[in-house]
Amino acid sequence: MKGFVSFVGAGPGDVELITAKGLRRLRKADVVLYDRLVNPRLLRFTKETCEFIYCGKLPTKHVMPQETINKTLKDKALAGHQVVRLKGGDPAVFGRVGEEASALKRKEVEYEIVPGITSSLAAASYAGIPVTHRNHSASITLRTGHSVEKSSTVPQDKEGHGDTIAYYMGVKNLGYHCEELVKDGFSPDTKAAVIEWATTGKQRTVTGTITTIEEEVKKTGIQNPAMTIIGDVVGLREELQWFEAKRLFGKRILVAKSSSAESSLEQHFLELGAEAYAFPALKLEKKNLASTSLQSVKKADALLFQSPESVTILLEQFYAEGFDVRDLPRNIYCLSEKTKRVLQNAGLKSEKINESGEGMLVVGYEKEEISSPGGEILTTHAVKLDNRFRIIDERMLEEEWETVVFPSAASVDWFLHVRNLYGMLNLSHLRFACLGETVKKYAQAHGFSILDEQVQQELEMWKNSSFHPVR
Ligand code: SAH
Repeated sequence: MKGFVSFVGAGPGDVELITAKGLRRLRKADVVLYDRLVNPRLLRFTKETCEFIYCGKLPTKHVMPQETINKTLKDKALAGHQVVRLKGGDPAVFGRVGEEASALKRKEVEYEIVPGITSSLAAASYAGIPVTHRNHSASITLRTGHSVEKSSTVPQDKEGHGDTIAYYMGVKNLGYHCEELVKDGFSPDTKAAVIEWATTGKQRTVTGTITTIEEEVKKTGIQNPAMTIIGDVVGLREELQWFEAKRLFGKRILVAKSSSAESSLEQHFLELGAEAYAFPALKLEKKNLASTSLQSVKKADALLFQSPESVTILLEQFYAEGFDVRDLPRNIYCLSEKTKRVLQNAGLKSEKINESGEGMLVVGYEKEEISSPGGEILTTHAVKLDNRFRIIDERMLEEEWETVVFPSAASVDWFLHVRNLYGMLNLSHLRFACLGETVKKYAQAHGFSILDEQVQQELEMWKNSSFHPVR
C-alpha cells in the first residue's frame, strides 16, 4: 500500500476546534508527528497502534531539526504508512507547510493539506473581539512578529482608525512592533489586546493601547504562546466577551482516571471553562476467556460486575460461545451507576451494591500496574498505562494544578502510583473533590485533606443531573 501524508490543522487549542476531516484523518493514522502547540488531548482519538512523534521542544530545549521532520515524513510515507502531520492552528499560516510539502513533492510522496482554525481568528473570538465589523474594521492582516524586519503599512483612514492586525509572535518583540506602528502613523491610542493560551482554560487577556500594552503584559506576566490583536475592534470586547465569563473559567483541574474510557468529567469541566486534564492515559487489554470460565458464569448464583468494560467484554464472548441472555444468572449486581447503565442498555436489570457478597462471581479487571486487593474474580481485561502518552502526561503534570477530582477509589490508587512513577507533582497544595462519600474517605486516608468546595459542588450537580451518556 502506498503511504500518504495529511497535513492537518489541529486548531488553536480547544480540542473541539479541529475540523471533522482532520479528526477523521487522525482516527486512521499510523503515525502522527505533532508540535508543541497542538493540544495533546487530540492524540487520544488515534488508534491504539498509532505511533506518536513529538517535534516540539524537548526538556533539552532542542527542537527536532526541520530536515529530520521532512525526512521522517518521507520515510514513514514511503514505508506505506498513513501519516498525519499535526500542526497548531492552520498548517499554512506561519506553519511551514510550504517547506514540508515541497520536500515530499520532490520525493513524489502524495499529500493533502487539511486547513485548521488559525489562532488569530480563534483568539480574537474567544476574547470577544470580532476581527471585522461594519463600523470598525474592513480587513485583517496576519503578520508574524518574530522577525523585527519592517512590514508594510496597513490602511488607516483619515481619523487614524486602523483595520485589524494580528501578530503571531511571542511577547518579546511586542514593544518594537508597537513603536513601528506609531512611526507608521498609527495613533498612539490605537487599541491593542494580547491573548495568552487562547481558547483553553488557561486563556488570559490584557488590553490597552499600542502605547501601554507592553507594560500591561509585563505587569500580568503574560508569556508565550500569545496573540496580539491591534485595532478598534478590541474595544468591542468589553461588551462581547463570553468565554472568560464561564463558571469555572481559569480553574485548573486534574481528573484522575482508572479506566481507558474517555473521561466525561474532563469534557464537562472543559465545557465550563476550566483547564481540565484526565490523567493518566490508560489502555485496555481484552482477555480471551476460556470455555470453562464462560461455563462458570452460567453456573454462578450471582454476578457482580466491577466496571462497564467488563459487561461488554463478557457478554460479547459469552454470546459468541453459543449462550444467550437466558443462560445468565438471575441476580446481577454492579459497583457503579455507569456499569448499571451499560447493563441496562444490554437489557439486563442490576442492583448497585458497595462490595461483593457470598456466592457472587466477580467479573472484573486486573490492575497490572498496581497491587489490587485479593479476591476470586473472572478477569475480562487488564488496565495498563499507555506508555505512548508518558511524555505528554509528564509535560501536563508540570503545569500548575489546583485540584484533583477522584471519580472512584481506583482512580486514587492510579493517581498516586503514576505520580510516584513519574516522580513529580507536589501534592501539598493540591485540593481534591470526589464522587461519593466512600471515595472521599479513601482519598482522605491517602493524604488528601483540603476539599475544593466549588468543584465538589459541581460534581454533586453533575452526579444529580439526569443523564450522562455512556461512551
Ligand atoms: N499555524 C499556527 C501559527 C504558528 S506560529 C496558526 O495558524 O495558528 C506560532 C504562534 O501562533 C505563537 O507564537 C502565537 O503567537 C500563536 N499562537 C498559537 N496558538 C496560540 C494560542 N492558543 N494562543 C495564543 N497564541 C497562539
